[in-house]
Amino acid sequence: MKLANTPIHSINVDGYRVFVKRDDLLHPYFSGNKARKFAHFLQHEFDGICRLIGYGSPQANSLYSMSALAQLKGWRLDFYVDHIASHLRDNPSGNYLGALNNGANIIDLSLCSDRQGRAALDYIEQEILPNHQNTLFVPEGGRCAYAEFGVRRLAMELNEWKKQQNLAELTVFLPSGTGTTALFLQKSFYELASSIKVVTCAVVGDCTYLNAQFTQLSANLSHHPHVVALAKRYHFGKLYREFYDIWNKVNKTGITFELLYDPLGWLNLTHYMAENSHETIVYLHQGGLLGNESMLPRYQRKYPLSGKAD
Ligand SMILES: *Cc1c(COP(=O)(O)O)cnc(C)c1O
Repeated sequence: MKLANTPIHSINVDGYRVFVKRDDLLHPYFSGNKARKFAHFLQHEFDGICRLIGYGSPQANSLYSMSALAQLKGWRLDFYVDHIASHLRDNPSGNYLGALNNGANIIDLSLCSDRQGRAALDYIEQEILPNHQNTLFVPEGGRCAYAEFGVRRLAMELNEWKKQQNLAELTVFLPSGTGTTALFLQKSFYELASSIKVVTCAVVGDCTYLNAQFTQLSANLSHHPHVVALAKRYHFGKLYREFYDIWNKVNKTGITFELLYDPLGWLNLTHYMAENSHETIVYLHQGGLLGNESMLPRYQRKYPLSGKAD
């Protein structure tokens, strides 16, 4: 199972050369990003643990990856979601279907009578964790200190490549959800190789949310990545014409990107490249392609003619 050491390929976007760190080539169970964030769990023994608990969206990459982790470890996965849309429940696809096939127990909190309006995290912390022993709890999207272990390994691979290429400086760009990957990358580079900087954009929430997430993981501002943003606000999980257009454009390079994080990542990066054309940039492909199974049909229904014109 390939869980580290991915290649870096060169592509051309808008006339600029960009390198792509191919974490999408890691084992599909962990869709890139989660292989790094969950490496600690994969590579260590957890005596006595028999249950993994998580929460998030029923289409989350982390749901699928946690279901694979649980299956490999022989654990049961209880994954709490706010709500499962009836369309998805009746037509399982993508990460949700993959997780069901891996035996995940997906619990719809909107059907739990003792929830009493509480947020998912509060409900789990107050009702579930105190009543279950031998349980490992992973916060939403793997946002926890455990993620540092595997992300540091990723930082070391990037630093090795920079040395091989004889580069004085390097910029690593990635779109952020919780910001865990970006923060631990920046922290690793600060400690290992300060000539590498991390630039990111907020895909879930806005810059204020992302900076608050960074602070939760580390109060040291030197560990915080540089955050760029566009004038327009985009909402997570919503479909936008310019997302679909840029996704079609970057896919023409021969590398397939995902449809939830990468479109806003590339929109931000193309702006950034135009203003910082002297920098050598590596775009971190964080996998997530299984999610395209449900996202692509939605885009094709909404914009039937896009991507077919040329
Ligand atoms: C989970 C995930 C992200 C977000 O990672 P964070 O560490 O939460 O910022 C981005 N892209 C893909 C494909 C993911 O699966």
